[in-house]
Amino acid sequence: MQTQTLERMESNVRTYSRSFPVVFTKAQNARLTDENGREYIDFLAGAGTLNYGHNNPHLKQAMIDYLSTDGIVHGLDMWTAAKRDYFETLEEVILKPRGLDYKVHLPGPTGTNAVEAAIRLARVAKGRHNIVTFTNGFHGVTMGALATTGNRKFREATGGIPTQGASFLPFDGYMGEHADTLDYFEKLLNDKSGGLDIPAGVIVETVQGEGGINVAGLDWLKRLESICHAHDILLIVDDIQAGCGRTGKFFSFEHAGITPDIVTNSKSLSGFGLPFAHVLMRPELDKWKPGQYNGTFRGFSLAMVTATAALKKYWSNDTFERDVQRKARIVEERFQKLAALLSENGMPATERGRGLMRGIDVVSGDIADKITSKAFEHGLIIETSGQDGEVVKCLCPLTIKDEDLLEALDILEASVNAVIQA
Ligand SMILES: *Cc1c(COP(=O)(O)O)cnc(C)c1O
Repeated sequence: MQTQTLERMESNVRTYSRSFPVVFTKAQNARLTDENGREYIDFLAGAGTLNYGHNNPHLKQAMIDYLSTDGIVHGLDMWTAAKRDYFETLEEVILKPRGLDYKVHLPGPTGTNAVEAAIRLARVAKGRHNIVTFTNGFHGVTMGALATTGNRKFREATGGIPTQGASFLPFDGYMGEHADTLDYFEKLLNDKSGGLDIPAGVIVETVQGEGGINVAGLDWLKRLESICHAHDILLIVDDIQAGCGRTGKFFSFEHAGITPDIVTNSKSLSGFGLPFAHVLMRPELDKWKPGQYNGTFRGFSLAMVTATAALKKYWSNDTFERDVQRKARIVEERFQKLAALLSENGMPATERGRGLMRGIDVVSGDIADKITSKAFEHGLIIETSGQDGEVVKCLCPLTIKDEDLLEALDILEASVNAVIQA
């Protein structure tokens, strides 16, 4: 495999190509093929960007049809039929059946762009600067979003410019399973000398993806919502990774029965792996002045076309959602067995997750690396997350075939056994 040009030309900043140093050429659903024709099962799926698999045929066809009629590909944020279709479908298929009433802001096409727009909107709407965020949170790496991201590696890469405007509080479970970390938040809010600037908003992932598959309890999320309501603070759910069906519902917050004031989606929003993001906001929060937040790629037409097709195909009834929950139970059961196996062999491990956003916490980044490297040798692409990379995580396409899912789980089991025996 020819990798010299890639190694010579690409900045040292590259990451995933270090874990999987082969040249990929093709992909279909949960299978990737490299230049030598070797196949791999994809349990990374663009870090949660390919919930509907690689080159999903329904979405691909929608895009080809659109292109073949010379549909508008780029139109800044002008009105297009593609945008109208997307809004209509979002409203009919997703928002109305869930009793949600949101306006849509199309910022630039990345997740961090949506987060920037969301926290800025909260500030504009409330006239306060502070944003409360949580330990191990990951919300992107541009300056505003970075201020709400916990990971020291990213925070140290600003050249010394301090990140500003956010306060970190302990996420659910951070202080051990018996402490309700929201007691601390509530106490700070009620204490005139607690030192916390009353925030404009709170930004939270219901399941922290990059932070290590940390699952916020449903009661914790409900309590967070009521604290926000009681103190006139906006609740922002960053559903960039946990949304679009990953947890078994379209929005991850549906499990808790809460209604955030602002929601961010990106990653799997286009469904096809095309860059796309939106911010959803309660209509009365739309305090933007025309053009006050802009960008050249606001609402990328091809992404809106595939997003519309994905919503129609997978979310018009509950068949897909039930299938995700069925597959999630398969993964959960197997992960629990692997965690038990590791624990019995002197490597304490626990399983956790919601829906198909699951992980095995093996406590040590070193052990997790050994497992995922072995898995790659056997043809499974799987990554780690968490502060020390200690959580082996499953982000497989939700559309993965059962036989691929079972094969991948067998590979993982063989990899765990190999690490135990080493
Ligand atoms: C990936 C991610 C982001 C950032 O998205 P980018 O497209 O990488 O900028 C923000 N929030 C969460 C929860 C994410 O998983």
